[in-house]
Amino acid sequence: MYLDLDRTPLGRSELGITGKVALGLGEGRAPEATLSGELTLQNLESRVLAAGTLQASGTAECARCLAAFPLTWDVPVELMVLRDTHSDEREGETLLIMQRDGEVDLADALRECAALAYPQSTVCREDCKGLCASCGADLNGGPCGCVEEPVDPRWADLP
Ligand SMILES: [Zn+2]
Ligand SMILES: [Zn+2]
Repeated sequence: MYLDLDRTPLGRSELGITGKVALGLGEGRAPEATLSGELTLQNLESRVLAAGTLQASGTAECARCLAAFPLTWDVPVELMVLRDTHSDEREGETLLIMQRDGEVDLADALRECAALAYPQSTVCREDCKGLCASCGADLNGGPCGCVEEPVDPRWADLP
C-alpha cells in the first residue's frame, strides 16, 4: 500500500489498494483488516490528495453469541501527502503525511481510517438470538430447554 510520488501523474489518477493492516482494537474486534478498493489521487505537485472509500474485511466476534464471523465494513479515506515540508497547511480532519518524494507508505494512515470506521456494534446477523442467560447455550441452534421462572400463583391474584 504505497503511493509513489515519483510516478504519480499530475492531475487526477487512480490508486489501487490491497493489503492487510493490524487494527489493535481489543477483544472481540477483528484483529486485522484486509483492505481493498481504489483511491482517487489529485496530484497538485506540492501535495497529493488521496480520497475514496475502501472495503475492509476481517473476522470479528459476535456481540451476542460470541461466534466468530466474517465482518465487512466501508472505510472512508481522506489523506494528503504534503511535499513542501515547510508548509503547515491543514485541511480539517484530513490525515497529513509529510514526504518530499519516493514511495509513501500508506499503511499507518489506512490503519487509522479502518479503525475509525470500525462498526460500533457487531452481530453475526441482525436476528442473532444470542446465548441463554442461564445455561449459556447458543439459542440460534434452537431452544435450550430452560424454562422461564413461573410467577408464584399466590401473588398472581392480588389486586
Ligand atoms: Zn451471533
Ligand atoms: Zn438455557
